[in-house]
Amino acid sequence: MNNNKRKHIAALCLFAAACLCILASCAENTSKDCFICGNSRTKKFTTSNGTARYYCKSCYSKCAFCGEKAKSSYTNLLDFHIFVCSKHKQL
Ligand SMILES: [Zn+2]
Ligand SMILES: [Zn+2]
Repeated sequence: MNNNKRKHIAALCLFAAACLCILASCAENTSKDCFICGNSRTKKFTTSNGTARYYCKSCYSKCAFCGEKAKSSYTNLLDFHIFVCSKHKQL
């Protein structure tokens, strides 16, 4: 009886830990506002200086110069990302 109870508590602890993990990973994706427009539901990007920045999908998927689909990004002098299409990658 006592042994069974202990198993039950262990299972509960595992369950709680799993829930905490899920909550933590959710929070990391949504708790920060977009650096450019302030939208939520952002993705984390790290600049070449190692600064973490968060951008929403509409910002990180659009070229800053022409509005085409962004293929890559680079860090500018102000230490944030510029998202660019393949055509504007060289600028
Ligand atoms: Zn945005
Ligand atoms: Zn472009």
